Amino acid sequence: ESGDDELATLARSFNGMAGSLQQRIRELAELSLVQQRFVSDVSHELRTPLTTIRLADDVIYDQRHSFPPATTRTAELLHTQVERFDLLLNDLLEISRYDAGSVQLELEPTNLANLAADCIEGMEALAAERGSDIRLVAPGGHGDVEMDPRRIRRIVRNLLGNAIEHGESKPIVVTVDSDAESVSLAVRDYGLGMSEFDVEHVFDRFWRADPSRRRTIGGTGLGLSISTEDAALHGGILDVWSRPGEGSNFRLTLPRSPGEPVSSFPLPLVP
Ligand code: ADP
Repeated sequence: ESGDDELATLARSFNGMAGSLQQRIRELAELSLVQQRFVSDVSHELRTPLTTIRLADDVIYDQRHSFPPATTRTAELLHTQVERFDLLLNDLLEISRYDAGSVQLELEPTNLANLAADCIEGMEALAAERGSDIRLVAPGGHGDVEMDPRRIRRIVRNLLGNAIEHGESKPIVVTVDSDAESVSLAVRDYGLGMSEFDVEHVFDRFWRADPSRRRTIGGTGLGLSISTEDAALHGGILDVWSRPGEGSNFRLTLPRSPGEPVSSFPLPLVP
């Protein structure tokens, strides 16, 4: 008898707990929708005034040398910050498109090795400026794979930009590889590398490692999270190996067919 009572009490309290847990999950889901809406609305609202500010800034920036030196510097500072604001806003708009699920891929048969070569060519000057150079290792033909080349190019440029930024002027090696199910592209740098803690957070939104190592005003901390979203939309994966002082290896793996996502455990990524 008393055992039954205890069981009934236990069942009731479990029921209560499950109920409030469900309620809490509903609240959290609503909250995150409200948050997504807020980010999207704010970004759209800021777009119009920023366009006007950019036009005014262009005029001022073009004439900066006709001002007294102190004003020239102010004009240059203004220009840098307006550009930074513009980048941030574009990234925020992009993030809110992913959250809303409104991103459509434009798939085309594309050769990843050729795409990599194009991206490298486009970033050679920046690498040289930083005393580095980029080598492409792409043995064999990897065939064409259905992908959205605009988005994949953005991922590769982002990885190359990071490798140049944190690569300590050492050479950067890009490797394109493939097997029956997937094609991959790895960007290896021999620079600063990251701690285990950094590696855990590197794909998080707005994450930037230790501020003291930021030498340029640079990015927004959204580059890799946008790249991750783009990879996932393709059924692909972005992963990383890194060690402090030994550099980093970021790898993008795409399925040969976007309908068949790559396994969430691709081959272990090694130095
Ligand atoms: P951003 O480059 O705009 O800061 P990302 O999302 O591209 O944003 O990168 C987030 C952070 O991850 C960087 O600020 C940097 O701390 C770290 N990171 C990315 N790539 C590398 C790399 N190749 N080597 C060392 N740290 C890196």
